[in-house]
Amino acid sequence: MNSIVRVTLEIALRKEFDYLVPPELARQVEIGTRVRVPFGSRQVLGTVTALVESSPHATLRSIVKIIGGTALITPNVLALARWMAGYYCCPVEVALKSVLPEAVRKEDAGWRERLFVHALPVQGDLPKLTKRQLEIWTIIDEWRELPLQELLSLAETTAETVRRLEDKGMVHVGPRISERDPYARELILPTQALPLNEDQAAALGRIVAALDLVPSTAGHQPGAFLLHGVTGSGKTEVYLQAIAHTLQQGKGAIVLVPEISLTPQTVERFKARFCAGPLHTLVAVLHSHLSAGERHDEWHKIRQGRARIVVGARSAVFAPVEPLGLIIVDEEHEHSYKQEEAPRYHARDLAVIRGRFEGAVVVLGSATPALESYHNALQGKYALLGLPLRADDKTMPLVRVIDMRQEARKDKGTPIFSQKLKDEIMNRLERREQVMLFLNRRGYASSLQCPVCGFVAQCPNCSVALTYHRGDERLLCHICGFASRVPQQCPEAKCRNPAIRYAGLGTERVEETLVKLFPDARIRRMDSDTLKRKEDYRRILGDFRTGRIDILLGTQMIAKGLHFPNVTLVGIIHADLSLHQPDFRAGERTFQLLTQVAGRAGRGDVEGEVVVQSFSPFHPAIQYARRHDYLGFYEQEVEFREQLKYPPLSRVALLTLKGRNEDKVRFSAEHVRKELEGRLASMKNLVVAGPAPAPLLRAETFYRYQIMLRVRQMPPLSRELARLIKELTLPDDVTLMIDVDPMNLS
Ligand code: ADP
Ligand code: ZN
Repeated sequence: MNSIVRVTLEIALRKEFDYLVPPELARQVEIGTRVRVPFGSRQVLGTVTALVESSPHATLRSIVKIIGGTALITPNVLALARWMAGYYCCPVEVALKSVLPEAVRKEDAGWRERLFVHALPVQGDLPKLTKRQLEIWTIIDEWRELPLQELLSLAETTAETVRRLEDKGMVHVGPRISERDPYARELILPTQALPLNEDQAAALGRIVAALDLVPSTAGHQPGAFLLHGVTGSGKTEVYLQAIAHTLQQGKGAIVLVPEISLTPQTVERFKARFCAGPLHTLVAVLHSHLSAGERHDEWHKIRQGRARIVVGARSAVFAPVEPLGLIIVDEEHEHSYKQEEAPRYHARDLAVIRGRFEGAVVVLGSATPALESYHNALQGKYALLGLPLRADDKTMPLVRVIDMRQEARKDKGTPIFSQKLKDEIMNRLERREQVMLFLNRRGYASSLQCPVCGFVAQCPNCSVALTYHRGDERLLCHICGFASRVPQQCPEAKCRNPAIRYAGLGTERVEETLVKLFPDARIRRMDSDTLKRKEDYRRILGDFRTGRIDILLGTQMIAKGLHFPNVTLVGIIHADLSLHQPDFRAGERTFQLLTQVAGRAGRGDVEGEVVVQSFSPFHPAIQYARRHDYLGFYEQEVEFREQLKYPPLSRVALLTLKGRNEDKVRFSAEHVRKELEGRLASMKNLVVAGPAPAPLLRAETFYRYQIMLRVRQMPPLSRELARLIKELTLPDDVTLMIDVDPMNLS
């Protein structure tokens, strides 16, 4: 019997500690069990990561308590967490913390117990009851069983009265677990598998073959697939049928979708297929809009094996599905799969690693695969599957690019809407079809400027201009949330010009113009300013679906995965916004965004049309998107990346130093660079760039300097960086962050 265990504590110490297991707890402690242990003069929570024979330490203290009963972290997930800590250079305790939802990790987390009233069988005649008691008994008898609280409000009675019935042996009142089901109020009609078209059948065939292969070739990677299918090509149907096959093998599946597309629509498609029929299983849903209680219950349904399918955002990659047969990563190119705080993992990449550890098949799906993924597919790391046509024989929408430089010349000053876009909107309104308009910036204007002295209202905490929001008459920082009132005149003491101007365009201003241009249209704006409450998102989309909105205007929120048959026109107001970012992925992002947004048009019977307004209409990202030519875009973009040795032709680690004193930060960055040069001298093909000020030099009052490292292979560099963090000494008020495979370079 093991009586010593190794425990990772929840406090970041980059170290593990040994503890004794008291005999009375011995049978419950295994790898992955959460425990409370003494540490110094206090007690902390931790996770058992190993059972050990003996400890180098003479005096060991004992585990105090076990949290949550069964081992919450399965050995497979523990292995994944360790891999993550190594690759992304973060302490194991930080990695472990992120694999369990907060709602599960908490010491007092638990199922919600409620008192229920059950009717007991009554032999022979009813006992003598008052009129009131009889009324209440009738209700209970009809329901057979109901929560006490509901009975009390239904019968307008008190617990006392119900207890009387209990005394007479007619009912039983007792606690019972009442599961919180976030989709309880949804009516979901079961769906049947669709007959697949040729391309879909071929893709499914390859996935199924890999699923069938797994048992005979244990230890060998069964396979990761990249499913490249244009928008509307029926990728989801392929996922659904692959999952069905996985269930038949007695295994479970994880489906990752970007947080933003975890709409009721998406979840419903999975629930509808698996809620009935012979494969009946629960579908658990994990995302940030659930209450803590709901998240706890959903998670435990998976841990108990009752839900064998999980649909969730990024962190669902850690869901304790056992045995796991399939992981699907939909919209695999989405940046929200990357966590922007430690551990800075990429859920798509972890999915591939987890698949390899557990012998599960991994399917990455996208209409616009990340360059990294497509490159991996061409290298043979993933098998490439293609769905080049829309599933329902719809044609791809016609995309027109409008040169806004010419519009500006015609119009003296830059109009928000080109003549073409105005005409097309008018057309749709007349034909009672719907329009979606897209601008990736909220607020009214992107900055407030004085035309006389050149003053621009800046955030005092960040190096960005403040955005003007007309709705609440405020200037807002989109980085740190700083808000201030709008000055009535230029605040510069020497200037005081009363005619300050707004420059740049936001959704609020587009809305204002739309209302003037189309006074009879029903227009709704959807961005994070208009979505104040949880249900707003569903309500607006519901109104749009049922035709109560003619024109839906929004930020990227409306770009993803939504399906509205009556939308025949999509307008992109300002396609250049994402193009001129200081990031080597700016072109790729623009291409992805335009393709996804264009995919919203023409999902119904009428052909769709897309109008793209741009000041750089001949940019390759725009031109290839116009022609729906992913491969063309890929080839020219990879050439550019090759020249500069950017991913996918290299791996990047971004080191950011931050602190409030700019000089100290800069000196520290120089110091880190020297350390790196000494330590990494023997590393081949290493490119070190910087230190340089971050594109966003100051954010939330911190100055930031960056060093960018580019290498062929990340793991050896990860190991060196981990060593560096341990041995490096920096001033107390300067911190070093390491981002492996960064998606955000600002
Ligand atoms: P994607 O996920 O690739 O964007 P979807 O799975 O949403 O595409 O499919 C687009 C539309 O085509 C959906 O309405 C879907 O029901 C329909 N569809 C998918 N596969 C088929 C099929 N084999 N036959 C007919 N319709 C299909
Ligand atoms: Zn700010």
